[in-house]
Amino acid sequence: MECKELNFFNRFLTGLPEDPIVDLYPRQVANASFSRVKPTHVANPQLVAFSQEVAEELELASSFYQGSRFAEVFVGNRLLKGMDPYAVRYGGHQFGHWAGQLGDGRAINLGEVKTSKDEYLTLQLKGAGSTPYSRTADGLAVLRSSLREFLCSEAMHHLGVPTTRALSLCLTGEEVVRDMFYDGNPRPELGAVVCRVAPSFTRFGNFEILSASGEYELLKTFVDFTIKADFPELGEPSAEVYKTWFREVCQRTARMVVEWMRVGFVHGVMNTDNMSILGLTIDYGPYGWLEGYDPDWTPNTTDSQSKRYRFGQQGEVAYWNLYQLARSLLPLFKEASILEEILNEYPKYYSDRYNEMMANKLGWACFRVEDAELLSDLEEVLTLVETDMTIFYRCLAEIEASSVESLTDRDLVGMLEEAYYDQQPLADTVILKTGDWLRRYLLRCDEDILSDVDRRVKMNSVNPLYVFRNYVAQLAIDDADRGDFSRVNELLELYRNPYNEQSGKEIYAAKRPEWARRRAGCSMLSCSS
Ligand code: AMP
Ligand code: MG
Repeated sequence: MECKELNFFNRFLTGLPEDPIVDLYPRQVANASFSRVKPTHVANPQLVAFSQEVAEELELASSFYQGSRFAEVFVGNRLLKGMDPYAVRYGGHQFGHWAGQLGDGRAINLGEVKTSKDEYLTLQLKGAGSTPYSRTADGLAVLRSSLREFLCSEAMHHLGVPTTRALSLCLTGEEVVRDMFYDGNPRPELGAVVCRVAPSFTRFGNFEILSASGEYELLKTFVDFTIKADFPELGEPSAEVYKTWFREVCQRTARMVVEWMRVGFVHGVMNTDNMSILGLTIDYGPYGWLEGYDPDWTPNTTDSQSKRYRFGQQGEVAYWNLYQLARSLLPLFKEASILEEILNEYPKYYSDRYNEMMANKLGWACFRVEDAELLSDLEEVLTLVETDMTIFYRCLAEIEASSVESLTDRDLVGMLEEAYYDQQPLADTVILKTGDWLRRYLLRCDEDILSDVDRRVKMNSVNPLYVFRNYVAQLAIDDADRGDFSRVNELLELYRNPYNEQSGKEIYAAKRPEWARRRAGCSMLSCSS
């Protein structure tokens, strides 16, 4: 079955300079933005799962995505007409240090699809073989990390978090050796390829590399290209538009992180090469979801010492990353003060968005300055005992403001019981502090214009019932490793509707079981993928 022609219109290839070398070997690339590459042919492509919605957005014919050629194309064995694969050059700051050239080491762009709505969507294979940017690595990816990326990016989209999407997850039929915990125990794992989809995969690091290597002319070309291709609403590039653009990038980045904070997502590797210029969540590696609320938590074992990328620090790290982006844009702005001024807006912009988001989570019509104390006290209340963040907010929505008078602290706090991990009775101090906070909260709700019912509706529309819990990902991986893909597909469907109860899916809304507390993959992840 042939595919209905996808309409490829590869702006990146026509708008930016190409690496003249076509041979495949690791190298430093200069004065170019991409290198032409070919995906590596693999033995036995097999489709594990695909997102029908993304296929429809791309306007792929259903006869094609239901046919046998689909896996061939989306592991990279077969190119469709108009596909013209390339790997992109970028650099980045990793864990606070300039790392030089990184680039698409295992991502291969197949091209940009132009849809009938005149939207552009880049198709990108992750794990389809090495490129000039692979350095010493193999360009491949394993099933466990690919499955995590595939499901999580789709789940994030439906949670309302800006993100790259995923079209498909395929097995390659080949083995890939990985030392999952860098502890001298390499073992073969199943190789896989995800096809990711986004309006563009441009990262902060695309600008940084050009500035770091003194390629200022190309830097300007790249910025102009980005504005025209990815921010056309801002108008033709000019000194004024550069400013509006940088401000827009800062604001999008802030909004993206606030959405992470809303749903309890920890990216885990917020290096500048993993920061999308469009403010999309990109590069799902050792990310994780808060179970017990803990601002100091990071799932990434590679970062377990300094915890640079811990949950509670994501807003500040994003700021630091924007500062690096600003530094790299300096040659274009000439005066640092212009960039500084825009950067200086970030803390207030972020905290305003954060407060608004918290007011929504708590079911208030809007945030008031005097609410700040309730918010900071909530932080304390959530960490008194191990409290499941997701379940906490769903329970909170059920408590009626009018009930407060007739209930004791113990009764009130009992309404949050489901969220607590420890099955022992709560200590008196916990009851006292939590009870006090609940009373003040409910009083605040009573003063609000929203009724209990409206508050619950509002809260349940921003506080998800189903998040992609770390251990649930591992269950899907365990099944898939055995060749059973039913859970991947079940979860793909479940997370399309994360705010509404779905019958028979109660286990996915429940707390993490105790066995998963310390199991590798459930709470601890490395960068190995
Ligand atoms: P990450 O930490 O996944 O964002 O990756 C950082 C850099 O390493 C990027 O340039 C990736 O393309 C590259 N990279 C990661 N894993 C591999 C791999 N298996 N093969 C080649 N390059 C890789
Ligand atoms: Mg990356």
